[in-house]
Amino acid sequence: MPTPATLLTIDRSALAANWRFLAGQAAHGHCAAVVKADGYGLGAVEAASAFLAAGCTRFFVAHLAEAIILRAGLTERFPQAKPSIGVLNGLLPGEQAEFLAHDLLPVLNTPQQIADWQPEHPAILQIDTGMSRVGLEAMEFDALLPDLRRRNFGLLISHFARADEPQEPLNRLQIDRFSAAMQQLPGVPGSLAASSGIFLGPDAHFDLLRPGYALYGGNPVPGKPNPMQRTVTLTTPIIQVRDVEAGRPVGYGSRWHAPA
Ligand SMILES: *Cc1c(COP(=O)(O)O)cnc(C)c1O
Repeated sequence: MPTPATLLTIDRSALAANWRFLAGQAAHGHCAAVVKADGYGLGAVEAASAFLAAGCTRFFVAHLAEAIILRAGLTERFPQAKPSIGVLNGLLPGEQAEFLAHDLLPVLNTPQQIADWQPEHPAILQIDTGMSRVGLEAMEFDALLPDLRRRNFGLLISHFARADEPQEPLNRLQIDRFSAAMQQLPGVPGSLAASSGIFLGPDAHFDLLRPGYALYGGNPVPGKPNPMQRTVTLTTPIIQVRDVEAGRPVGYGSRWHAPA
């Protein structure tokens, strides 16, 4: 087989360096790695292996099927490590046994998900602080507090809506709402910042950073130089370079015309 002329190269050492760099930003506490969407396209088990070798012990994916694949892949490669795997979508009907069998942590987002999970089993709780996507509403959180306090939550999380806009006042509001909720659940560590949130400063950090995008080289501070290393390179030979006169149509449907 001839080597394909087009090559996508994934740099494991750059993935590891990016995790170490973000973990080094932590004001206090630790740094997880989000490897949902098959590790942002680079392969969840490959990416997580690079982060784990660099010292990461906590991972997040979006749904149960991804988590089962990740658990199997990491157990095979690192039989001694017992990384935690959180599932951001939480618990869907009928999934409880699979969560327990594979030692996975659901992120409980709704009163129904909370009711469906045995209180003694470890889990993560998500509250909404301003994104209006998933997580308990403030009123639901208050109403459920007596029950929430009896549960085995290892982490409280929420998610920034506009962390890539540092001047946006909603960020401060979300930090304050999150701090207030944490005070209602003493002893439960908190995690608010994903990639861009890390660069809002120590007030946004709480106990665990939760980056995804930036680990893979995405710029967490748009408009400023990217502090992250490139993890993916695509190389391909150029087959033909053309000179076309002004006005000549190019491509399917002649949708582009050379302006000059
Ligand atoms: C996707 C996601 C992350 C990671 O976000 P990035 O912007 O990719 O760093 C963290 N937490 C939650 C809840 C997410 O959905």
